[in-house]
Amino acid sequence: MIIVMEKKATEENINKVCERLTEYGFRIQVNRGEIITVIEAFGDKTGVSQDRISALPGVKEIKVIREPFRLACRDRNPEDTVITFKNGVKIGGNEKAAFVGPCSVEDYDGLLEVAVAAKEMQCEFLRGGAFKPRTSPYDFQGYEEKALKYLKQASEATGLLTVTEVMDADDIPMISEYVDVLQVGARNMQNFKLLTAVGKSGIPVILKRGLCSTITEFLLAAEYIMYNGNPNVILCERGIRSFDNKYTRNVVDIAAIPVIKKLSHLPIILDPSHATGQRYLIEPISKAGLVVGADGLMIEVHHNPETALSDGKQSLSIPEFKEIMARLNTINGRLAYEKNCLSANVK
Ligand code: PEP
Ligand code: MN
Repeated sequence: MIIVMEKKATEENINKVCERLTEYGFRIQVNRGEIITVIEAFGDKTGVSQDRISALPGVKEIKVIREPFRLACRDRNPEDTVITFKNGVKIGGNEKAAFVGPCSVEDYDGLLEVAVAAKEMQCEFLRGGAFKPRTSPYDFQGYEEKALKYLKQASEATGLLTVTEVMDADDIPMISEYVDVLQVGARNMQNFKLLTAVGKSGIPVILKRGLCSTITEFLLAAEYIMYNGNPNVILCERGIRSFDNKYTRNVVDIAAIPVIKKLSHLPIILDPSHATGQRYLIEPISKAGLVVGADGLMIEVHHNPETALSDGKQSLSIPEFKEIMARLNTINGRLAYEKNCLSANVK
């Protein structure tokens, strides 16, 4: 709820409204503009009558923000969020970025080969799993800190920024010594303690859409991170579960990208690798993502997909990756909207 105070509202009027809202259990934020003061009240207090607030002296109007994801909502922040990283790389607005690398970090030389290729193709981020959320406890679980060391080393060698998945809030201090972005995976999208912890960390986060999550749930998960103090959230559409997984691993919800662009100011990228599970679909689905306005792509690339310890089937080899990147729409080597597309009109 937003309370817009009248131009002539006195300090006493403002304080009274704040006092009343606090009594009702709202968390408040007072925004003093040059001319008017706007008070934001956070909290799900559906039982509180708005009339009792609008009746207070100095209140001009009350706006109820209908979308439950208040901080992530475009109404609140019409401009696209642009996140700027330590080396000046940006994502959001007109800036797109490519996140490239193996599903799991395995050996250093293989990782470096991928990183060098990613750099050559003007990608911005090296991704690689150190803690892997595997369905079976018997599957490869990741090389943990050793993998993080390799990521950091490869970053130092190439200048790429790095991303890795965090599964446990207790690992955040250690992981953040090594990488620039924390990834919250699909399986943890509603792990609210983890969302709270990555929120408190302030480190940029890639939040992947849960396997069976609605768009509202997805944006509310982002809201947890933002509510806990971290505005640097990059959403990632990575496909959702449906009834047919014979030919694709998940169903790519391509419409979710322009829908989310309309609803939210946060950047959203597409992961065609986990969305499809098929190498041959990476190129067409990447193109589709760019056409509908994705702010970037996350693509799994392995130096030798046949020996990969996870997700080899969907990983591109280095030559395949280079060919596909060269065919995606770019401006000065960086990802760009497809020409003549309507993506600019979705907001
Ligand atoms: C990953 O990026 O390696 C991963 C496990 O993705 P998701 O959480 O989307 O399944
Ligand atoms: Mn993977």
